[in-house]
Amino acid sequence: MGTKMLDLARNHKSGLLSKQFYQDKIMDWSMKDHNFKVQMFRFVDAFPALTTPDMVHDHLVDYMTQPGVKAPPGMDLALKAGGVAKGLAAKTISGQITGMAHNFIAGTDAADALPMLTKLWKQGIAFSVDLLGEACVSNAEADAYQAKYLDLVENLVETASGWEANDRLERDHLGVVPRVNVSIKVSSLCALFNPIAPESSIADFMERARPIFDAAKRNGVLINFDMEHFAFKDLTLDTFMHACDEIDFEAGIAMQAYLKSGVDDAKRICDWAQRTGRVVTVRLVKGAYWDFETIHAEQEGWPCPVWNEKWQTDQCFEEMVKVFLDHCPTKAGEGGVKLALGSHNVRSIAAALAGLEARGLGMETIELQMLHGMADQLKHAAADMGLRVREYVPVGEMIPGMAYLVRRLLENTSNESWLKAGFMDNVDTAMLLTDPANKGAGIDRQDLYMIAPERHELTPPDERVGNARPFYTEPMRDFADAHQRRMFEAAVKVAVVPEVANDHTPEQAGEMITQAHEAFDAWRDFDPYGRARVLTLTAGMMRAQRDELAGVVCKESNKTWREADADVCEAIDFCEYYARLAPNMFTSHRLGRFIGELDELWYQPKGVAVVISPWNFPLAICCGMTAAALVTGNTVVVKPAEQTPGIAKIMFEFMTNALMQVGAPEGVLQFCPSPGETTGAALVRDHRVGVIAFTGSKAVGLDIIQAAAVTPEDQLHVKRVVCEMGGKNAIIVDASADLDEAVLGVRNSAFAFQGQKCSACSRCIVVDPEGPNGQRMQLFLERLGEATKTLVLGRADNPNSDVSPVIDAEAAGNINRYIQSARDEGLTELVGVKDFPETGIENMVPPHIFTGASEDSTIYRQEIFGPVLAVIHAKDFDEALRLANGHMYKLTGGVFTRKPTHIDRSKREFRVGNLYINRGCTGALVGRQPFGGFGMSGVGSKAGGPEYLMQFVDPRACCENTMRRGFAPEL
Ligand code: NAD
Repeated sequence: MGTKMLDLARNHKSGLLSKQFYQDKIMDWSMKDHNFKVQMFRFVDAFPALTTPDMVHDHLVDYMTQPGVKAPPGMDLALKAGGVAKGLAAKTISGQITGMAHNFIAGTDAADALPMLTKLWKQGIAFSVDLLGEACVSNAEADAYQAKYLDLVENLVETASGWEANDRLERDHLGVVPRVNVSIKVSSLCALFNPIAPESSIADFMERARPIFDAAKRNGVLINFDMEHFAFKDLTLDTFMHACDEIDFEAGIAMQAYLKSGVDDAKRICDWAQRTGRVVTVRLVKGAYWDFETIHAEQEGWPCPVWNEKWQTDQCFEEMVKVFLDHCPTKAGEGGVKLALGSHNVRSIAAALAGLEARGLGMETIELQMLHGMADQLKHAAADMGLRVREYVPVGEMIPGMAYLVRRLLENTSNESWLKAGFMDNVDTAMLLTDPANKGAGIDRQDLYMIAPERHELTPPDERVGNARPFYTEPMRDFADAHQRRMFEAAVKVAVVPEVANDHTPEQAGEMITQAHEAFDAWRDFDPYGRARVLTLTAGMMRAQRDELAGVVCKESNKTWREADADVCEAIDFCEYYARLAPNMFTSHRLGRFIGELDELWYQPKGVAVVISPWNFPLAICCGMTAAALVTGNTVVVKPAEQTPGIAKIMFEFMTNALMQVGAPEGVLQFCPSPGETTGAALVRDHRVGVIAFTGSKAVGLDIIQAAAVTPEDQLHVKRVVCEMGGKNAIIVDASADLDEAVLGVRNSAFAFQGQKCSACSRCIVVDPEGPNGQRMQLFLERLGEATKTLVLGRADNPNSDVSPVIDAEAAGNINRYIQSARDEGLTELVGVKDFPETGIENMVPPHIFTGASEDSTIYRQEIFGPVLAVIHAKDFDEALRLANGHMYKLTGGVFTRKPTHIDRSKREFRVGNLYINRGCTGALVGRQPFGGFGMSGVGSKAGGPEYLMQFVDPRACCENTMRRGFAPEL
């Protein structure tokens, strides 16, 4: 059957579009030169944001002159063009890209695509229309999608009803198959489609989807749910079943065979359909986001949800087909699944046809679905064989179209492409039709997370530390996983914040220093591996009670689920990371190989360390500073922030327990919950203190540095201060930025944890050559404003909340005064309290965005430490960099740009401690993004970085003359 179809397709005269497509110059070059392909596709992705011919030319030159890229003949001339020729070159390339887009995208909207749909029908091919769209980041955008879907569902029917009848296309073994078939993306109808809060996501989705399903039911239109990223998979299945249970419309859903859960997912839908007596269509596809899923899983340290090998996906496809065919309803009134095959792979299709035959089912029981602009020969061959063929037809504007286009281009030029093999490379038929199981047997790569510690080697392995493997970051919870979600929820519910009074007096603090001082010598001389074990034991205890600790953080500091989970993970990371770096510092290292001279270097601890921590990372920062001081052999007095002593107490108890387990001397670690102004101030002034590790505000940090510089007569050393202070971090949104990414990146960096992160974005610099009222600036602001208004305010322990109360009434008062100052100074309040429902929750300060800020605006200059963002305009990238750098704080910064030279310039010229490109500017990970700033942001070396521990030790060197009477053993 496969051979027949392949032969028919290969000999088909009509619709040779794919051949033409491959002959297209850009594609031809792309297939010959990988470096060219990468840069070209990136340029294509940026293209719609380039509003003038100059910008087009400028970016093209930029991409094509990247290292390792050789522009093909013809294009190199265009790149060198100047004056009028420049415009011409830009026009040519624009034409090429638009042409390519038209191969895959049928029109800008349904009306525009109608002639194409009519033509397809005449050729014997049905359709499913898909709306291409930008990421839906706000309720306003979700409303706009709803209107467009409604338009399709109401209006396509009228035209389509005039078409000639075609039994092959509109009848299956059960009866009528709707002519109009519309694909929807669940996430486009719900801006906060978020697996962390499934019930509210489904409810919000249904609000907008209900009228669409009602209209579909009335008009006899089939609505197909597309399947997006894996994180949405379970929620999409639940949403689909919920919608079908509630409304009786013709429903379909796409399912992906590249998921390891494919067969289970298939069974789940089939069981549900049979149980409820519902008939639905499943479009079985291989899956479009394989690279993303693989990369994302590795970044998160999670098991990879997709098969690592292509043959496994092909095999899973065939397995899923069997499940669906086994559950195909055979007569009206029976529940089950009708199968649509979304594949261009003749082997996969033939296997399904063989499955039909084996079950005595007719060809009409299934349909074939293929993408518009691809595999036309195959479509016609299948139609000739009597199959119902449907095209998946995207419609939409250029900007959203590009992401789709790039996916198609990548697919078409991939070495894995079946179409390329079948029609370009003319691979042998038998080879093409081989059973995937035979093809790949024995070939299976491991998931990347399993080998991540060794692959990345963030620290060297040391068989005497922890699990003997290199350090790797603790994976955060995957809240898309119902099990993890439920466990977390239960833990948060019962979490109790220990009651701790901040009542330690300066005298008590002095007594603690005495004890720490007395314990120092023994701890200094303790086995460094024993000290490292204190940290790995502590990490183990925290890991065992991760969710419970997160629950305490959530309740004590108002961190939402994800933020609280991240806080705990970071604390574990600090322990595991420093444990692996410390022991090596205390063995002597020989310098050089001189004969008769032994040169050695090693380190010793400094003495008593005082740790003073802030409330905003109540576990992570307190734990990181304490762990670093302890593991390097210092004895430690910890003074946590007054707002969050509860979680600090738990950390202290874990560490004390670990110290006991390794047999540490008494008095090594002391806990001193107390007011900063009195007891904290006394602690840092005690002459017996050797090192102070502080993280907090600039005012307190500078005061500590000054106090530490005072050396009374009886103090025999100079104190070292590790001091991490504030930030006023800027994100630049360049003219070529991907706005989907920039809007969410800026919003989340500014308002996650209510802007109370030292790394939070509080200045946003938008480049628009057309001026502050330019199109780009306006579009960005509109989307950012709407996306921000969509955030949900609520208590931190409610998973649905995005923004919770700020830390206390004093903070709320300060932030509100800054907000008032912005109003008084005449700034425009793009988003403010008026845009959110009243919650009645104490200390709730909703997100605020002010536009029209200048460098002198108070909210632009001062660290506010709350959810307030100042937006300022820059006419070009030079000015943006000048503005970004024009601040005393140098902590984090971000740039959204798709211009390679701007990325390079940012790295060189945007002078901050932590720079983030094309992502948000918060969320640094231990070992991966060592964290800390300079300028007024701090005088420490980076926390979670390879040099951090150096600050807690003094180096010692020794030179021994090993020559005796002219003789040295090594000669
Ligand atoms: P804060 O300076 O008010 O308090 C920090 C700690 O210092 C608390 O434990 C407090 O009790 C103590 N303290 C207060 N006065 C003191 C004194 N006179 N002597 C000794 N100790 C004293 O800061 P905060 O409000 O807890 O935290 C927010 C600040 O921390 C922000 O400015 C933020 O940018 C900064 N921060 C910086 C980093 C970083 O890595 N650079 C990380 C987190 C927070």
